[in-house]
Amino acid sequence: MKIPICGHEYEIVYVDDFRGEAEKLIGRVLHGHHIIEIRDSLPQSQKIETILHEIGHCILWHQGHLGEELTSEAAVAAFANGLFNLGVGEFLLEKAKKEGKRG
Ligand SMILES: [Zn+2]
Repeated sequence: MKIPICGHEYEIVYVDDFRGEAEKLIGRVLHGHHIIEIRDSLPQSQKIETILHEIGHCILWHQGHLGEELTSEAAVAAFANGLFNLGVGEFLLEKAKKEGKRG
């Protein structure tokens, strides 16, 4: 599934092997490849919130915010949870599904 972020097409990929990363990892962004990896074994609601979390990292990264307080895990998690509670994650997944069917 592809989602446009800051003018770039990111692919969301569900994985259960983060290739050497910590077992507790539930999502990550491969910025150089425009890939967001999400742990497939997560409950659906956690998957959606994690997608929003990683999108938050992407948006901040493309705006040049690196290594600042704004990009801290706590800040991104708060931002993602706020969007999750607004239903933005469900909306994005539905939108991507519909666009996938058309294309
Ligand atoms: Zn994070």
